Amino acid sequence: MSAETRREKAAQIRHLLDTEGENVHADATHFNEARYDAVEEFTAHEELRTEAREIKAEAIERLPELIDQVTAAVEANGGQVYLADDAADANQYIESVAGDADSLVKSKSMTTEEIDVNDALEAAGVDVHETDLGEWVLQVADESPSHIVGPAMHKSREGIAELFNRQFDPDEPLEAAEELTAFARDWLGERIQDADVGMTGANFVLAESGSITLVTNEGNARKCAVAPDTHVAVAGVEKLIPSIRELQPFVELIARSATGQSIAQYVTTLSPPVETPTLDFGDPDTPLSKTGVGDGNGGSAGNDDREFHLVLLDNGRSAMRDDDQLRETLYCIRCGACANSCANFQHVGGHAFGGETYTGGIATGWEAGVHGQDSAAEFNDLCTGCSRCVNACPVKIDIPWINTVVRDRINHEDGAAPELDFLVEGLTPDEEPGGLTPRKRFFGNYATLAKLGSATAPVSNWLAGSGPSRAVLERFLGIDRRRALPKFERETLVEWFDTRGGSRIPAANADREAVLYPDVYTNHVHTDRGKAAVRVLEALDVAVRVPDVASSGRAPFSQGMIATAERHAHDAYADLAEHIDAGRDVVVIEPSDLAMFANEYEKFLPEMSAERLAESSYEMIEYVYGLLENGAEREALRPDDGEQVAYHSHCQQRTLGLEAHTVAVLEECGYDVLTSETECCGMAGSFGYKQEYYELSMDVGSDLEAQFTTEDARDRTVVASGTSCSEQLDSLLERPSRHPVQLLDPAREK
Ligand code: SF4
Repeated sequence: MSAETRREKAAQIRHLLDTEGENVHADATHFNEARYDAVEEFTAHEELRTEAREIKAEAIERLPELIDQVTAAVEANGGQVYLADDAADANQYIESVAGDADSLVKSKSMTTEEIDVNDALEAAGVDVHETDLGEWVLQVADESPSHIVGPAMHKSREGIAELFNRQFDPDEPLEAAEELTAFARDWLGERIQDADVGMTGANFVLAESGSITLVTNEGNARKCAVAPDTHVAVAGVEKLIPSIRELQPFVELIARSATGQSIAQYVTTLSPPVETPTLDFGDPDTPLSKTGVGDGNGGSAGNDDREFHLVLLDNGRSAMRDDDQLRETLYCIRCGACANSCANFQHVGGHAFGGETYTGGIATGWEAGVHGQDSAAEFNDLCTGCSRCVNACPVKIDIPWINTVVRDRINHEDGAAPELDFLVEGLTPDEEPGGLTPRKRFFGNYATLAKLGSATAPVSNWLAGSGPSRAVLERFLGIDRRRALPKFERETLVEWFDTRGGSRIPAANADREAVLYPDVYTNHVHTDRGKAAVRVLEALDVAVRVPDVASSGRAPFSQGMIATAERHAHDAYADLAEHIDAGRDVVVIEPSDLAMFANEYEKFLPEMSAERLAESSYEMIEYVYGLLENGAEREALRPDDGEQVAYHSHCQQRTLGLEAHTVAVLEECGYDVLTSETECCGMAGSFGYKQEYYELSMDVGSDLEAQFTTEDARDRTVVASGTSCSEQLDSLLERPSRHPVQLLDPAREK
């Protein structure tokens, strides 16, 4: 990315933060909090997530068979199925169905957005009316959706009122939400009555019966399906599930995940073409006859000659199914929870965090699959891998992994940055072939840089802090000069430990033996927290070792440098295996490294090795928690004095379910703990350093800043588990942050 492109990107993000950020933030965080509440009181949630994933996995596996089955079922019902290869193919078929229709009404459907059916139909002379309120607002405003569930999330009520008043010039200006929705209902109701064709999507397609299930909160979809005599349903082939017997988990999960409702307002399952005759809206008082028109029994003059067309769209999905890494994307039920739980999305919204059609966390997978990698490349970097979406997803898709895989592919697209390859090929210690940008190599090889930084400190620190150096780093690597760079310690943690003569607790006298994993930051930058960790472990009768271990690979992993991350994984495991063999625990300070051991290494290491490391590894305070639970003396830690702390847990630590351990230990030790409520601090490793994302990073951090500067919080000691979080908090607040282990350090001065 050139300096000019970075500036343009920064300007686009700044513009969206200013114009849409507030509305997106209000709605996305509202839905996210509602989801937490709904899930908390729903005891079957985890069980149904597992079941739903299994159903989806099996359905995608059996997809060709299910397509044949649904085709037979729909045709037996009297409908038609069309399997469309791509958008043009689907639109051509839909145009042929619409024929000489004057108007078509449609409900919200991202799949129809994907194929731009509105444009195709309008070009063919058909008036298309969106009937979902949000979609209609966007149609009137000529804008694109910013969220897959709440398409007009970026618009305020005031903005919509102003739009409607300008566009429709009502007798009385519209203002309140009730007035706006009443106006929309009347206006859209007339279009539905007059429409020749109704179009819907389908949340689920049931292969056995040829039924479609529509899940909405407005009831418009079923009106579109049954008011006109012709119904076209457009669905991606991935919407197929075997039968109605498999529907229940999805109905339970989709609304809870999307909006926090226990069930959506309207869940409609139709087996079209439905048998009921159409309504004669001009004669609403006459009851429908059994057989419709002309039965001579006073029945209304409806039409019972109904048509139904199910358009099943491929558009890249078969290739996604064949792609081991993108295949999981097809399990997605489009609930939007991954967007709502994403700190970056909450602040900037889908017009930045999205491609041609899809928005939010899973959009990278969808865009790469249906529109191609270029569309995904536009916003892929906005996923910081914080992993907060992983537990939010009702079908347990590993969304950050999909984003990392696509990032890796984008890195190596032909022509990505070949002009500098000759400079770095063979000189950089990574495993990447050509095409990688210098910035990726810089951040992805941070472990090597840190070694060099410590070896040459303090010169390296002076150089990195000088104005000319920062200008060069900004111009050539896009590292924003407003961000303070980490300062390297001359003596690493490993060297300090060796110099002091190793553990003060001999293994023979110890309750347990542990290896303190010297992650890159603890070893080279924040050695104080490493020293505190050693003292805390020793105070609890643990024999400690701090060996020189390879970096976890988190840095290259976050840049999408998968081959390099894999090599690091093998090196780190080789270094740690002898300790695991000897029965030593692996204690990890940096949560993102623990997340590598716990979750990512299963992609790189033999299954048994990954499991052994995951089972032997503990987050630092989780380990202390376990020791205290098993009889270690709390009094051996720094005596408590009721100190008030404001604690921010790292996003990956929370995804691993380990925030509570730190809170419990601090409280056990007498601290008064206030915990942050934000999903992510916004720094996210290298993300916050990047020139084009600096302002977004700070905007995301503003939530944390606001919480930690309230009257109750502003005098509290700031505590953070992750390096990134500390860096962000240090730049947002006027008081320094500490790692929780530093509070427990027996050597800590009051
Ligand atoms: S990936 Fe999961 S959380 Fe995101 S929209 Fe799809 S189903 Fe929902």
